[in-house]
Amino acid sequence: MTNKHRGSCLCGEVKYELSGDFQSFFLCHCTRCQKDTGSAHAANLFAKANTLTWLQGENDVRTYQHLNSMHAKSFCQKCGSALPTIAESIDSVVVPAGSLDTPISMKPTAKIFVSRCANWTKNLDNVPNYEELPEQVKS
Ligand SMILES: [Zn+2]
Ligand SMILES: [Zn+2]
Repeated sequence: MTNKHRGSCLCGEVKYELSGDFQSFFLCHCTRCQKDTGSAHAANLFAKANTLTWLQGENDVRTYQHLNSMHAKSFCQKCGSALPTIAESIDSVVVPAGSLDTPISMKPTAKIFVSRCANWTKNLDNVPNYEELPEQVKS
């Protein structure tokens, strides 16, 4: 039996399914991924390319291929959400972890490009935690 995973974009226009297991899960801190995600790092799962099936909205998927590099990003043209990208050179599909709607049982394989970490991401253990939006932000 193969594992099925499902994902979608924020606006719900694009939906996809993966049939099969993930092979690796990398948290990439490189500067391209910082730009691409607008955040500290990308969280990408890797699976065999042929496990991906678009269920709906494939025509709204756009892919940006960064010049002279393997860095690519697919996204919904309506809402901009990150979506799976086929990396032909490694016969893989790169799946942004946050786009999945089904649980991910795999733990991250590794953090990579940590030499490029944004300095604000260091020592976050001491930052206050709130279960939801705190009062001081709402007011
Ligand atoms: Zn969308
Ligand atoms: Zn990266």
